[in-house]
Amino acid sequence: MSATVIDGKAFAAEVREKVAGHVARLKADHGIIPGLAVVLIGEDPASSVYVRNKGKQTREVGMKSVEHRRDTDISEAELLALIDDLNTDDSIHGILVQLPLPDHLDAELVINAIDPAKDVDGFHISNVGLLGTGQKSMVPCTPLGCLMMLRDQHGSLSGLNAVVIGRSNIVGKPMAQLLLGESCTVTMAHSRTRDLPEVVRRADIVVAAVGRPQMVQGDWIKPGATVIDVGINRLAKEDGGTRLVGDVDYDSCAPVAGAITPVPGGVGPMTIACLLANTVTACCRANDLPEPEGLTV
Ligand code: NDP
Repeated sequence: MSATVIDGKAFAAEVREKVAGHVARLKADHGIIPGLAVVLIGEDPASSVYVRNKGKQTREVGMKSVEHRRDTDISEAELLALIDDLNTDDSIHGILVQLPLPDHLDAELVINAIDPAKDVDGFHISNVGLLGTGQKSMVPCTPLGCLMMLRDQHGSLSGLNAVVIGRSNIVGKPMAQLLLGESCTVTMAHSRTRDLPEVVRRADIVVAAVGRPQMVQGDWIKPGATVIDVGINRLAKEDGGTRLVGDVDYDSCAPVAGAITPVPGGVGPMTIACLLANTVTACCRANDLPEPEGLTV
C-alpha cells in the first residue's frame, strides 16, 4: 500500500482562500485592511526571492504589503528605529524581519524589538514563552503549517506518538510544543540522539526538520505513520542543474507510510500561507474582533 500524498500546494491554496475571505469581510464590515511589513537587509538572492513571493501573495489575498529594503551597512540603531516606526504604525499588523541578518546585527535583539502582537513569525521571546506555557501566541509559520496538515489528516492527534527530528528554535522546538498541545506523546530527536531509527520506528507521526538530504529511511518508518518532511536541500544533478529534496528519503518511505508530504510541494508552500494567516489573526486581535477559524491554534 502506498501513502496518501499530502498536497501542500493545494492545502496552501485553501488557506490563502480562507485568508482572502476573511480579509474581504474585514474590509466590508469594518473598513480594516490587514497590513504586513517585510524588512530585508542586503541583497541575498534567496532572501530576495522569498520577500518577493511574500509581497505578491500578501497582495493577492487583498492585504496591504510593504517592503523595507535596506543596505547591508545599516546600523543596528537605524534598524531598531525602523522597527519602532512599524510597531507604532496602525496600518501594519504584522512585521517580519527576513533572516539571516548580516553579522554586525544582533538578530535576537532585533526580533525582540518587534511588538510581540505584530510578530507574525512567532520568534519573539514573549511568543516563545506563551507557546511554551500553552497560552495564545503568534505561532511560527512552518510548524503551524505542519500542524494544520496533521490535523487535517488525523482529526484528533491525542495520544499519538510523535517524533520531531531537529530542535531548532524556528521549527523543531515550536513543532514539539504544538504537538504537546495536541496531547501527543512527543519525543524530540537531535544530532546526539542514540539509535535514531529505533526512536523513529515508534512514531505515529514523524516530523523531520534536520537539513540532511534524504536522511530518514523507509525501514525507520512504522507502517501507516504520517511523515512530514520540513527539509529543503538542494542537490547537484549530473547535468549541472540542481534539484530539491527533503530530509526524508521519499522513495523508500512512501510505500510504508500512511501519509507523507513531498518535497517540493509539501510543507514549503504552507509556510507563506501561514504567514498570511498569522497576519490576519494579528489584525483581528489588534481590533478586538473574533479570530478567523482554522487559521491558528
Ligand atoms: P537547524 O540547522 O537550525 O537545525 C537542525 C536540527 O537537526 C538540529 O537540532 C540538529 O541537532 C539536528 N540534526 C542535525 N543532524 C542530525 C542527525 N544526523 N540526526 C538527528 N538530528 C540531526 O535547521 P532548521 O530547523 O532551521 O531547518 C531544518 C530543515 O528545514 C532545513 O532543511 C531547512 O532548509 C528546512 N526549513 C524549511 C522550511 C520550510 O518552509 N519548508 C522553513 C524552515 C526550515 P543539534 O541541535 O544536536 O545540532
